[in-house]
Amino acid sequence: MARVVVLGAGLGGLASAARLAALGHSVTVLEQAPAVGGKLGWFSRDGHSFDTGPSLVTLPQVLRDLFAATGGRLEDAVDLVRLDPAVGYRFADGTRLTMPGRLDAVPSALDDALGRDAGRQWNALLDRAAAMWRISEEPFLRTPLAGAATLARLARRPGDVAAIAPWQTLRGLGRRYLHDPRLRLLLDRYATYSGSDPRRAPAVLATVPYAEQAFGSWYVRGGLHRLALAVLDRAVAHGAVLRTGAPVRRVLLEAGRAAGVELADGERVAADVVVSGVDAAALHARLLPADDRTRAVRRDLARATPSLSGFVLLLALRGRTPGLAHHTVLFPEDYDAEFDAVFGVGRHAGRPVPVDDPTVYVSAPDDPAMVPDAHSESWFVLVNAPRHDPASGMDWNSPGLAERYADRVLAVLARRGLDVRDRVRWRVVRTPAALERDTGSVGGAIYGTSSNGSRAAFLRPANASRIPGLFLVGGSAHPGGGLPLVGLSAQIVAGLVGPA
Ligand SMILES: Cc1cc2nc3c(=O)[nH]c(=O)nc-3n(C[C@H](O)[C@H](O)[C@H](O)COP(=O)(O)OP(=O)(O)OC[C@H]3O[C@@H](n4cnc5c(N)ncnc54)[C@H](O)[C@@H]3O)c2cc1C
Repeated sequence: MARVVVLGAGLGGLASAARLAALGHSVTVLEQAPAVGGKLGWFSRDGHSFDTGPSLVTLPQVLRDLFAATGGRLEDAVDLVRLDPAVGYRFADGTRLTMPGRLDAVPSALDDALGRDAGRQWNALLDRAAAMWRISEEPFLRTPLAGAATLARLARRPGDVAAIAPWQTLRGLGRRYLHDPRLRLLLDRYATYSGSDPRRAPAVLATVPYAEQAFGSWYVRGGLHRLALAVLDRAVAHGAVLRTGAPVRRVLLEAGRAAGVELADGERVAADVVVSGVDAAALHARLLPADDRTRAVRRDLARATPSLSGFVLLLALRGRTPGLAHHTVLFPEDYDAEFDAVFGVGRHAGRPVPVDDPTVYVSAPDDPAMVPDAHSESWFVLVNAPRHDPASGMDWNSPGLAERYADRVLAVLARRGLDVRDRVRWRVVRTPAALERDTGSVGGAIYGTSSNGSRAAFLRPANASRIPGLFLVGGSAHPGGGLPLVGLSAQIVAGLVGPA
């Protein structure tokens, strides 16, 4: 039995804690914040409740595996509901598309909304994406990153390499299969699921819409935050100890091995194994010594483009919006302008700015647990935003900016047919700076590093660090961000540490 210290009680930290405790280790979780969840956060006031981070669960099989490995059934722990329809899309030309939650219903819905042949085009793309998924799931998503060995595993058959097309971008893949510009927008948007720009992200991200449509879009009744609490329950049931309000100041090394951590108040917690669920950039900048063993990771992190961040509005609304889907996406006329602004490229080269006319995502769960009464709504509104980077990019703390931008987002929503300005009881604005403050992710990057560039997946830190006894879990480590991949990273870490 090893003494394991886990840094951070985000989903990555909690899932590793639950798995390692179930394997018989003695686990302590140290979380700086007063509550668990990290980005999988929660806000509640006057009967209005909100998930402040994720609003969509995909690949529920990853969560099922996590609960099965820790002695429970996912369905007994949370009330998981498959969404159908999955999303309501509104395009700048006025087209509305209600995307079904079942794969077999997608082609006819596309034909009905976008015209004949749209379903066939999308199917052709998803066939290719399904092949990519079969090739990459096991050797990449479910396996530790091991540099050249990983590449060799992925490149075992020339046909597989041709299917993955590592040289092609997601945008390029869309151009090849999709002739309808609205379908191309749909595909482009999936780059943002990993915080990326479709013009630079690899074609293999087409596996994201494939996985979403094949395995479903899911919601957790009572809010996704309940997932964090349910995973914590599994960890505690196996004897793990949680300490909140316990910020870690540094990782302790002895004879070259991880030997525990030191808290901000100077207390030391000894350990045989340290699992860091903290943002990898923050771990390397603040908690680890800058020496040869961490140099390669620092270099890779500096080479990678950080993920985009998000600007969030939590809206407590009077009254109900007829016909509103659980998830709604309202596209702008010029999607490229959004990526230029967010990443500070193209017409905003070197100068990231808030998006003038952003894509707006609204999540409005029809769930009595989230509202004070049947005549109210609690909306989570998200737009892509540049990271908080006062030194060389955007300063989200500039006076008045957050409230002004919140007004702008509400005006954009109104222009696109969802004017709720006279229904707002109150609103909470959460900027990238707030995300950084609350979760310790550098700049409020949602997914660690982005997938921009063909080598991006290999610039993400591996789960086994070069320091013996130190492991990295969570959205900023391999295989990447988003709840399912974070769950897989915990599975990989538990496999690397092994049973007690
Ligand atoms: C607005 C938003 C929307 C999103 N939407 C979706 C979605 O719909 N679907 C989806 O799958 N994913 C979504 N994501 C991404 C998803 O939330 C993350 O990938 C995932 O929750 C990351 O989990 P994690 O454990 O890696 O990191 P985190 O949740 O960031 O956890 C890290 C934890 O470490 C703690 N910590 C940091 N520093 C220290 C320290 N020094 N000492 C102790 N503790 C420390 C933090 O407080 C935090 O609790 C979204 C994220 C955001 C922000």
